[in-house]
Amino acid sequence: MMFSLRLFRLPAGAFILLLFVFASTLFAGTPRGAAAVALSRDKDGNETFFIFGTGAVGKLADLPKELRRSNYREVDISAWSNQFDYPALLKALADAGITVTRCYVPEPGKASWFRRNLAGPEPQPDAVRHVTYVYSPIENNSYNRRYKLPGKLKAVKYVTIHNTAEPFSARQERDRVDFRRDNASVSFHYAVDEKEAVQILPLSIHGWHAGDGGSGPGNTESIGIEICRSQCRGDADWQYRRSEANAEILACALLRHFKLPAEALRMHQDWSGKYCPHRILEENRFESFRARVADRLAAEPDSEESALLHQIKRAR
Ligand SMILES: [Zn+2]
Repeated sequence: MMFSLRLFRLPAGAFILLLFVFASTLFAGTPRGAAAVALSRDKDGNETFFIFGTGAVGKLADLPKELRRSNYREVDISAWSNQFDYPALLKALADAGITVTRCYVPEPGKASWFRRNLAGPEPQPDAVRHVTYVYSPIENNSYNRRYKLPGKLKAVKYVTIHNTAEPFSARQERDRVDFRRDNASVSFHYAVDEKEAVQILPLSIHGWHAGDGGSGPGNTESIGIEICRSQCRGDADWQYRRSEANAEILACALLRHFKLPAEALRMHQDWSGKYCPHRILEENRFESFRARVADRLAAEPDSEESALLHQIKRAR
């Protein structure tokens, strides 16, 4: 009684202000993590963005506003063109209070998949590499059924290794698959980064990752693993190295689960000739990658692999 009486003695303006502050903390929520954003530019010079985590698409000039509206305060950007006005974009984002963690753009004079980060330096590494299994299949809606969940795997005979050719995390890559609406048939079972192995497709369903069509063994008989952060080089190199080390553990766990030998490990390139996994191919390391997986497979699973195996058994 005393409390409500005191409340009524507040001036009406202060009372309304209190109510407003209370309501805005209820509805605003905490800011999300970093948005992943891809930029594109068509032949007429129209510049657009795509935010992976929300599926929002719009004119580049509206990106800062859209990020704020979606409660993002941090962004990772990737673009395949040097024609954007990056200084103007970075300034507009800074003015809107958005921190740019990564802004990867083509590196002049290098092959098309080489990029540099205009926003560097990257976040510092944690002391210890680790990998956690995240079960997060894309939504089973009509669009995704049509473009990303084509049907049952005929059998599981292979595990196929890819590099994303992007700087993004595994969760960001997962969101891109879930939300893209550009009529592209692109999907894969796992994205793995320096922290997490994210399961994106059910293990009974085949994906569109190998480029060998609707009856090729790459798509219809293999589990696809995208190793993330393959654009991260120099001071960001640790992110890729750890992502690849985590992929080694995941690949071994999948081979063991499906009772396959190390020879069942394939590259995207084996199915369709595409230069993928670009990072492993550049550094000519696929045989050494496979040999490390084979060594693991020949031994009893260690605690990290056992944890992944446990989750794979439970996964659908
Ligand atoms: Zn690939």
